[in-house]
Amino acid sequence: MKIAIASGKGGTGKTTIATNLAYYIAQSGENVQYIDCDVEEPNGHIFLKPKIEEKDTVTVGVPDVDLKKCNMCGKCAEFCQYNAIACLKNNILVFEELCHSCGGCMMICPCGAMCEKQRAIGVAEFGVAGNIKFGHGKLNVGAIQTPALIKYVKKKANINGVVVIDVPPGTSCPVIEAIKNVNFVVLVTEPTPFGLNDLELAVGMVRTIGIPFGVAINRCDIGDGRVVAYCKEERIDILLEIPHNRKIAENYSNGNMILQIMPELNEKFETLYNLINRQINV
Ligand code: SF4
Ligand code: SF4
Repeated sequence: MKIAIASGKGGTGKTTIATNLAYYIAQSGENVQYIDCDVEEPNGHIFLKPKIEEKDTVTVGVPDVDLKKCNMCGKCAEFCQYNAIACLKNNILVFEELCHSCGGCMMICPCGAMCEKQRAIGVAEFGVAGNIKFGHGKLNVGAIQTPALIKYVKKKANINGVVVIDVPPGTSCPVIEAIKNVNFVVLVTEPTPFGLNDLELAVGMVRTIGIPFGVAINRCDIGDGRVVAYCKEERIDILLEIPHNRKIAENYSNGNMILQIMPELNEKFETLYNLINRQINV
């Protein structure tokens, strides 16, 4: 079972909910893995403090030009939709950092002057955090192929247990890659006008893809009641509400798991997990 914890915007408490849900599931004796797919800014490791056992460099294919075979026709530069190739009078420049590895330029080159070479975009690390299996990706600075790294990290997902996926914020391509093939999405939000706006976008996204979902409201006692009213109107289940609490904020900023510090919140995560299970098995 794969559960994605997503949010239309950053800073809503997505990682807090993802790491603590994984912790709750592990404490209840189930085989669980936490995967941080927020590869541009992974921070689940700060809370779970894993022991890393495996580190893979993740690469993508980019074109390499053999100028001896090239006739300077410029077809590759014309073809590339990302302006990753410039055809000069006596040279072809490839801007690897702009390349999306579609492979098209290599296919259309009439002289067979292009072949593929590998370019590193980041690393994927795997290990354990107590009885939680752990994985995350770290994208290199300047690399743009976020979905490729997410795909790599997800390939090593637990097949015999529960996987909790920490999804990048927003509703763009990396999010789609991270929630692809999951059984359920928890959309984390906060009860503010910005929270509502981004929740509406995220709801549109998961409905379009057709994945069952519910909402978790963090800092539920700040802002106004419009998020709750929206969920009622749209018949969306609110699966979890976490109050604004100084102790939670302090422990978050110290990199502590809230369920370790505040076991009284166990019940809320138990309810969240039971509701997810119920909805998946409907
Ligand atoms: S592989 Fe695709 S994106 Fe990359 S340079 Fe060639 S055409 Fe452009
Ligand atoms: S398409 Fe091939 S032959 Fe034409 S400019 Fe590009 S690399 Fe050279």
